Amino acid sequence: MPTSALPTTASLADRARAALDRCRVEAPQEPAGARGAARSPITGQDLFPLGHESTGDVEQAVTTAQETFSSTWRDTPAPVRGQVVHRLGELLRAHKADLAELVTIEAGKIRSEALGEVQEMIDICDLAVGMSRQLYGRTMPSERPGHRLMETWHPLGVVGVITAFNFPVAVWSWNTCVALVCGNTVVWKPSELTPLTALACHGLLMRAAEEVGAPARGLHRVVLGGREIGQALAEDPRVALLSATGSTAMGREVAPRVAARMGRYLLELGGNNAAVVAPSADLDLVVRGSVFSAAGTAGQRCTTLRRLIVHEDVAEEVTRRIVDAYKQLRDRVGDPFGESTLVGPLVGERGYAAMRSALERAAAEGGEVLVGGARVLEEEAADAYYVEPAVVRMPGQSAVVREETFAPVLYVMPYRTLEEAVELHNGVPQGLSSSIFTQDQSEAERFLSAAGSDCGIVNVNIGTSGAEIGGAFGGEKDTGGGRESGSDSWKAYMRRATNTVNYGGELPLAQGVSFL
Ligand code: NAD
Repeated sequence: MPTSALPTTASLADRARAALDRCRVEAPQEPAGARGAARSPITGQDLFPLGHESTGDVEQAVTTAQETFSSTWRDTPAPVRGQVVHRLGELLRAHKADLAELVTIEAGKIRSEALGEVQEMIDICDLAVGMSRQLYGRTMPSERPGHRLMETWHPLGVVGVITAFNFPVAVWSWNTCVALVCGNTVVWKPSELTPLTALACHGLLMRAAEEVGAPARGLHRVVLGGREIGQALAEDPRVALLSATGSTAMGREVAPRVAARMGRYLLELGGNNAAVVAPSADLDLVVRGSVFSAAGTAGQRCTTLRRLIVHEDVAEEVTRRIVDAYKQLRDRVGDPFGESTLVGPLVGERGYAAMRSALERAAAEGGEVLVGGARVLEEEAADAYYVEPAVVRMPGQSAVVREETFAPVLYVMPYRTLEEAVELHNGVPQGLSSSIFTQDQSEAERFLSAAGSDCGIVNVNIGTSGAEIGGAFGGEKDTGGGRESGSDSWKAYMRRATNTVNYGGELPLAQGVSFL
């Protein structure tokens, strides 16, 4: 039996308004003939109508952001810029539960994952405040006497941020906190599925800016709407960097528009993540790591585990244990606010249709559904899409396995040699996250090496999802190549100038060239 009864749409609308209220963000008015709506996947129904911005509003937002950048923000010392983000971190701590409430209502995440997502925002605030004193340039020895050679880092200008529904607040904060301390202003187009969380984040940031005396008005703008808003940002030549998170299809549309005007882009796109399970693996770790990575967030993470490549010696046991764990999950699908719920709803009908189609194609390609796949709670909420996470045994890596299906479907495939496992692992268009479960150090090192996994994230003895903010996050191939969050990802939000300073009074030319 699925978990507790679902809340009503009216009660969700009340909870959303109350959470906004506690964040001191005015609940949006209900404009006549509104083109948009706030919606909850918990019931699949609209909470209330909501205005969408026009492409003219995007132009206006970029103009204001550009003015603020030029007039004040780029010249504000980086550690002073960090004070805004420091204050934002404090406000996020105070409103952690409120933001998590909105994430659950709009994205359908279970409570603990929603709280975890807000914690990720708090963590990136701390990291970005530290970064504000560490935007280091290097000094290199000059070949010329009496000369100094160095590099300095400057802000880019207006950064456009497009985000996906499944991490409605964390991805914004990865981009915005770092972009702001680097001296940029930000225009944000959130997913049309999560406008309320966006308004709450924007409101808290504006409060932080006002409290520390920063130019709130142009520092950050939010523009609600669909793909036409994203396209307007992509095409505006004043948007120096477009950081876009979403499907590979979105990236394919956005990237050429930015490239056509010689702008910069940072893409964080779809994944099709796999774990290799070696014969020496600790199977307890495999089962726990795989089930969280594959079924958590109802399979709607970019880092969700979608392929399990298991050595034939342990394939049967691993499959049996994972299927047993999935059987227990069946009772824990339901209201994401429910205490015992582990799997909330899919965000909408499109995800459900994609899951159905993937399961049918998998069967046609020789697969066998071992557990899950059924839709549940249909009678209680006809417009919502709750599913039992599915495990499918596949004879090999067929066409459907090479695609990202944004739903909880885990394909299990056997392998004989590590070379074969790595070939299967890398034999998909995407390159985001990967894992190997092994007690054999040499195998682990081979997987981590240049000849191993081709992904941006490569783990040993943990699953593919749940990255920490301290590292650089992103992936290769169809995942888009971008890196965000920790390490030196801040460099994507700045431009580098190389400076040569002559303090010697002579003018020796480089490479020994003589002239005049
Ligand atoms: P989506 O591509 O449908 O939408 C993402 C965002 O792009 C939304 O704001 C949307 O309005 C906008 N958009 C869509 N088409 C556009 C276009 N042609 N021009 C401009 N903007 C456009 O993705 P989604 O369903 O919201 O999210 C799920 C996808 O995002 C999955 O593929 C997932 O793997 C990916 N994702 C990737 C990462 C990552 O860091 N790599 C993180 C989260 C999600």
